[in-house]
Amino acid sequence: MNIKDKKIAIVGGGPGGLTLARLLQQEGFIVKVYERDINKDARVQGANLDLHEESGLAALKKANLLDAFYANYLPDAGKLRILDNNGKIHLDDHENEHIAEHRPEIDRGPLRKILLESLQPETVVWDSQFVSMKRENDGWLLLFKNEKEYYADIVIGADGANSKIRPYLSDIKAIYSGVTIVEGNIYDANKKCAQYF
Ligand SMILES: Cc1cc2nc3c(=O)[nH]c(=O)nc-3n(C[C@H](O)[C@H](O)[C@H](O)COP(=O)(O)OP(=O)(O)OC[C@H]3O[C@@H](n4cnc5c(N)ncnc54)[C@H](O)[C@@H]3O)c2cc1C
Repeated sequence: MNIKDKKIAIVGGGPGGLTLARLLQQEGFIVKVYERDINKDARVQGANLDLHEESGLAALKKANLLDAFYANYLPDAGKLRILDNNGKIHLDDHENEHIAEHRPEIDRGPLRKILLESLQPETVVWDSQFVSMKRENDGWLLLFKNEKEYYADIVIGADGANSKIRPYLSDIKAIYSGVTIVEGNIYDANKKCAQYF
């Protein structure tokens, strides 16, 4: 069978899985993305990502999505200012004009929207939480939490840090690295904390 006739399943519709789906579809491959979220609006996507020239930006360039990226990016979000609870500034790189150019930031929500809209209709199969898979013919039968089953010739794991695909490839288990990040947001910060802008 020609590789372009094979069914490719990407498990996980984050930035990695969706970008790969776009790149494969551009080359004429048959791709489905199985994502556990029940639909595209199921949850807030989280904070912004900075994209680097050699990785994220290079991938978007190959995907012909750089224009869409620059229509949605956050020019000043790469700049950092660290204040203590009294508003005293301990670090301020707002004068650094070059940061945003080298690794421009975008919110995960708009990035996901750009990628979703670049895919062929019905590419993403929502509400598909991968549970397990077993060999069938030359490929795999994938089983999902909603008890649906789909066949694929090739399976790609893009289901994030706690991947359920990884155990099929490696015995190595994820370990806690000892680092915890606590993240918080001040909504409407430019109004509520106007004195610091
Ligand atoms: C606090 C923080 C800040 C970060 N900042 C940056 C940054 O500035 N720049 C940067 O490049 N990276 C950053 N990263 C890393 C970035 O988040 C990851 O590199 C990126 O999200 C990886 O994308 P992904 O598509 O591989 O996985 P994910 O974004 O984790 O997406 C995985 C997708 O798979 C789905 N999924 C999970 N399990 C299943 C399942 N069983 N079945 C089906 N679907 C499933 C999830 O719902 C999700 O949609 C940061 C990470 C953290 C935690």
